[in-house]
Amino acid sequence: MNKLDFALVLSVGEELLDGRVRDLNASYLATELRQLGLSVQAMYTIGDQAGSLLQLLQRLDGQNCLIISSGGLGPTADDRVRAETAQAMGVNLVEIAGARAELQSLHQKFQGCEAPPHFLAQGTVPEGGQALCNPAGTAWGFLATLPGGAHLMCLPGPPVECQKVWTEGGMAAAEQLSGGRQDLAYALFHTTSLPESTIEDRIRDLLENSLNPRLGITAHGKQVTLSLLAHPEAGCSAQALLDRSASEIEQRLGHWIWGRDQQTLEGIVVQELAARGQQLATAESCTGGLLASAMTGVPGASKVFKFGWVSYANCAKSLQLGVSAELMDGPQAPGAVSAEVAVALAEGARAQAKADWAIGITGIAGPGGGSADKPVGTVWIGLAGPSGSHAVLRQQWTRAGRGGVQNGAVRDALEALRRELLALPRLPERRF
Ligand code: ATP
Ligand code: MG
Repeated sequence: MNKLDFALVLSVGEELLDGRVRDLNASYLATELRQLGLSVQAMYTIGDQAGSLLQLLQRLDGQNCLIISSGGLGPTADDRVRAETAQAMGVNLVEIAGARAELQSLHQKFQGCEAPPHFLAQGTVPEGGQALCNPAGTAWGFLATLPGGAHLMCLPGPPVECQKVWTEGGMAAAEQLSGGRQDLAYALFHTTSLPESTIEDRIRDLLENSLNPRLGITAHGKQVTLSLLAHPEAGCSAQALLDRSASEIEQRLGHWIWGRDQQTLEGIVVQELAARGQQLATAESCTGGLLASAMTGVPGASKVFKFGWVSYANCAKSLQLGVSAELMDGPQAPGAVSAEVAVALAEGARAQAKADWAIGITGIAGPGGGSADKPVGTVWIGLAGPSGSHAVLRQQWTRAGRGGVQNGAVRDALEALRRELLALPRLPERRF
């Protein structure tokens, strides 16, 4: 059992509040705390104004928790974390043994003069606090206990320093406070091309009743990810509990799960092609090279990615890939956005590149250019492989804009190829 009830993550900095800087420390610390078995109950972001931290600490104190803050420990006048924590504790700031000499010598070396008091203040902590050394910078971190019993760990703001102070001392101190690292098990299951609501329907009862492991569901573009977080229970390890739920999820979602944890869909496709010694070529229209970019972003792609065309204009499709102009021009022609052209692009790319597989993508990314029978978001994906070619219509969700249509088409194309490689049922046609 954890000796602490929960953790809180606090980010300090005006630049976070006005949106200039994206908060990297909060997500880093939340991940680390989860691995320690401490669940984060809330995150706070405050500015650098005098009194902000003091007020928040007074509000949060009295709970059996660990508050981890980052930022506001530097030498500038707006760095008030040390002083306001001391104020909340009703104590003075005291020097950390050896810190003054170290800071003086650093200042002499890099600035060529004596360090001013505000610089030396970085080597102080509220009386009774435990100093945390900072091998990546000049501001020490510290751990202290507030009058109402809440524990507060203060780390520097620059992400590199925040992480260094955490790994070099903060983590061990947090582990000690919480009574040791808990044996937690965590796993992610990724799907794509199936709407979140469809996935939810298949696992709704598990979502409603999941206590341990805790089951979560998140959608990011086309990708829907399920997460499982298991705590040990009497007589059962966290891993055993997780494995049991994992097989239930795998059974319910079957071939829709393409990967786990840190895997990516393009990584899986590269891996499957490499395992077969096969190569891919791409002919992209509306995605403008994003599929080729996704594939070549995978280390080891050189073994499997052969050739990529951005055949955007009709003349490029004809000139480079032999797509017949009759398919694209004229009132009776199926048009550039059609099953016929998607297949012709894939077949042309496969033949030109002498590749085992080829994907052709043609669609209407918008926001303009749609019509009644081919609305914005219409995307045809053509696939040519060793045993023939086919195309599938995959209408994309348009509310995420042009980029959403393009990225959705790339995800669908990768999923279509994965299914073909693994001899799984093909992606169903999707039209709104
Ligand atoms: P410094 O010695 O640099 O003053 P500090 O502990 O006082 O360190 P801040 O002044 O709050 O930290 O921030 C220093 C730098 O780190 C700034 O560039 C700031 O934007 C960045 N930073 C602070 N907090 C975060 C955060 N949560 N995520 C990402 N960057 C951050
Ligand atoms: Mg600062």
